[in-house]
Amino acid sequence: VFQLSVPLNFLGSVYRELRQSLLDMETLFNLQKVNVTVKEVANPRPLALTKGGEIKFQNVSFGYHADRPILKDLTMTIPAGKKVAIVGPSGCGKSTILRLLFRFYDADSGQILIDGQNIRDVSLDSLRESIGVVPQDTPLFNNTIEHNIRYGKIDASLDDVKKAAQRARIADLIERLPAGWNTMVGERGMMISGGEKQRLAVARLILKDPPLLFFDEATSALDTYTEQTLLQNINSILKDKARTSVFVAHRLRTIFDSDIIFVLKDGQVVEQGTHPDLLSLKGLYADLWAAQEVSLGQDMTLEKELEEGREI
Ligand code: ADP
Ligand code: MG
Repeated sequence: VFQLSVPLNFLGSVYRELRQSLLDMETLFNLQKVNVTVKEVANPRPLALTKGGEIKFQNVSFGYHADRPILKDLTMTIPAGKKVAIVGPSGCGKSTILRLLFRFYDADSGQILIDGQNIRDVSLDSLRESIGVVPQDTPLFNNTIEHNIRYGKIDASLDDVKKAAQRARIADLIERLPAGWNTMVGERGMMISGGEKQRLAVARLILKDPPLLFFDEATSALDTYTEQTLLQNINSILKDKARTSVFVAHRLRTIFDSDIIFVLKDGQVVEQGTHPDLLSLKGLYADLWAAQEVSLGQDMTLEKELEEGREI
């Protein structure tokens, strides 16, 4: 069970909201089975995004179990306001990076800084409020579609909810349903596809509008056409205002236009740079790109390529 290390002496609705968001996180990160032990420092300050959201991992090592390190002395700087990508084989620790950033776990050694502040020194609320995630598998509540989107920002008006849904390319679909915005979803409601869930998650994120955005294989369940349109929309949203955004992806063609691409292998960043930089390195990224380009027509993902035993 997810354990809070901070006493919740907030008032009614704020408390419920916070508890709800922790429940969401719990589902989001599959935390049920772990005992979360992170602690806030005494009188923590709120995270201050004074430089626009630069994220630094400095010599970070981490493993879920002492005998199996996942991140090994990982160092990487995600510049403020840029669009970056993290690529690497399944299981190499990409989602772990996000879990550390959210402080669901603390690094065993090294440090993580946001705009120069060690994330251990800031309040957990301010840290988690600043980061928005579109996960691979979006948790839905047994409630209406409207509620599920508004969840990104509890006090949003129906109009705001609708606008966010439009930008996430899901509004038309919702409006065609017999019960429209009141359609029940979740375990006891209408079944919706993985792609629709991801669009709901994007709508939530648009509504929440956090300064740091994380897309964790967010478009992986979409067909190529829907993926392309959604990515175009996400890009236009990112252009509105400078926000640090991190895309974890398997399909390299969804991230090749990133400002920086970090290639992870064996718990470390082995290559980094722009797409042209990485191609001219003729290393791991270039190999992956070549392999995916060949199979583009078949819509192959890195995962499938791994299954098929291609050397990476
Ligand atoms: P990626 O997102 O790159 O596919 P993850 O960061 O989710 O990989 O996981 C990295 C490794 O850590 C995997 O081998 C995974 O099995 C393992 N792992 C993930 N979560 C846990 C956990 N809660 N307990 C133990 N091992 C875990
Ligand atoms: Mg992952």
